[in-house]
Amino acid sequence: MTKSYRTEAQLVELDKLRQHEEVDPAHLKELREEIKSDKILKFAIVVDKNTNVILDGEHRFNALKELGCRRIPLVYVDYDSPDIEVQTWRNNPHLTKKGVIEAGLSEKKLPAKTSKHMIRIGDKLSHISAIQKRVDIPLEVLRGGAELIDIKTVKPTMHTELREVLPFYVKFLHTGIVDNPIIIDEKTNVILNGHEVFQALDLLSARKAPALKVNILEMKIRSLQPGLKPVTREGIIEAGLKGPRLPPKSFEVLVEPLKINVPLGELLETEEKDRGILKVYNSTLELLYEGWPTPLVKFNSLTTSKRSVWAKLEGHNPFSNSVKDRIGFSMIMEALERGELKEVLYEATSTNTGIALTSIANILGVKAKLYMPKTIQKVSDTYLKVLGAEVVRLPVGLTVEAIGQVDSEAKVDKAAHLNQFENDANFKVHLKHTARELDEQLRSLGLKPSCIVGGLGTSGHMSAISFYFKNKYKNDTKIVGVQPAPNEVVPGIRRVETGMKWYHWMDFDEVVDVKQTEAIEGAINIARKEGLLIGLSAGAVVHVFNKIAKDQGVYILILPDTGYKYAEQFENYFTNLQTK
Ligand code: PLP
Repeated sequence: MTKSYRTEAQLVELDKLRQHEEVDPAHLKELREEIKSDKILKFAIVVDKNTNVILDGEHRFNALKELGCRRIPLVYVDYDSPDIEVQTWRNNPHLTKKGVIEAGLSEKKLPAKTSKHMIRIGDKLSHISAIQKRVDIPLEVLRGGAELIDIKTVKPTMHTELREVLPFYVKFLHTGIVDNPIIIDEKTNVILNGHEVFQALDLLSARKAPALKVNILEMKIRSLQPGLKPVTREGIIEAGLKGPRLPPKSFEVLVEPLKINVPLGELLETEEKDRGILKVYNSTLELLYEGWPTPLVKFNSLTTSKRSVWAKLEGHNPFSNSVKDRIGFSMIMEALERGELKEVLYEATSTNTGIALTSIANILGVKAKLYMPKTIQKVSDTYLKVLGAEVVRLPVGLTVEAIGQVDSEAKVDKAAHLNQFENDANFKVHLKHTARELDEQLRSLGLKPSCIVGGLGTSGHMSAISFYFKNKYKNDTKIVGVQPAPNEVVPGIRRVETGMKWYHWMDFDEVVDVKQTEAIEGAINIARKEGLLIGLSAGAVVHVFNKIAKDQGVYILILPDTGYKYAEQFENYFTNLQTK
């Protein structure tokens, strides 16, 4: 059998409740003065859960009203249960439960002290006050406003143990109800009680928390760590506003745990989040294009009061972890549309385009054969082998030098040669996405770029960026290309005079030479200042930025990939340092 009452006390708004009988003015006055001097309410009242009619505690209800309280602790019972009986103090044989409820719901109340409610607990019939929980709730709490407040404005004052927080997390998640409010000081928003609830809500990404605001000066504080200095009100406020936080379980304000009833949904993000924001994807291909834009992040180590520096992290593309996923996707999609994608594709690559093409080809069930210069790091062969590509190493220094051979072999073997150096899908994808995305990101910050720095390989991404920004902001945006110094190898980029398609169509304000060592040092610098392991052409971009930057403006660094493919070059660099 289910129990006819709930054992927990809940805090409920006074104006939700209905009384069924008059009160005795003398008793009310006496009780009000007692509660006022105690500054606490000791016991919860009893209310019918179906009608909100008060069954016992009408004097307390009225006393709290007169003391300016907004809510009252109560225990709900199921008045329909045969375990609850109504009797009368006045020998009124006609008093029924129905009569009590009718009086509660109408304006016509019964005379004071008419009803007496009894409850069966086990075999015994007891006065219903037997289930009234001792709560000792400060009047402050009953007066204060319970609000849903912005979680960011709440200031924790103590550390919490994760083990203590997780049960609240699980409870809120499973019941969909947050039944514990946090108690905060009304002036400072520092937490007085409910740190675990607060942390659980934070872990649930709640934006709001149900909070009872009280005046800390009116609250009794109890220190809980006998070995430590007693916690004072000032200490609590300081811990919340300035820190450091107090150790877990340092203090409590004297309030029994209270119950409320707030649906968790009301506390979570209210806006509909679309799948993109939640990062849910229906395929790995979708992961690529729905994942755009790639992040734009401020490099605070390079930013000064008048100059902000932002890095676009192309390493956040999922397949090759580089800018080249974009062209792998667009070249393959265009070839598919034109019906030119065969069973196998051939491509000359310095690694990234090869990985991007092979990954996407794998999704589509197409094979890849890649031609790479001997100058490229060995680990690329391993990655491409994992992906199932066939790799041919050629005795050339530059990727572009392999094109003739690739083209003729593709013709003989009836393979598709997408040719990143000539294929306009390369430039187009950067115009449509990379450049526009960057502009949108900057506009969201209210910024116009004064200078964009990026490396030149096929020249696809920087030509598109130049085209877009020079058209949009004319010469207000300076475009700076980065190329390896003569006889230097920086994987992914090459010298302009080796022949580039789109570069020659566009305006570049400057092209700056970088040695491999400088590129490596640029990457090391960012790793040590910003914590990001960026690639070598990205390091070259950083080096050029450092060389040309003025102490004013908005600088954008396009960083094509991450450093993980270049362990070989980093290792050689460190070995050379040692031998010097
Ligand atoms: N950086 C790296 C690491 C690359 O792989 C590439 C291209 O292969 C580039 C820079 C140059 O990009 P783009 O071909 O768009 O000029």
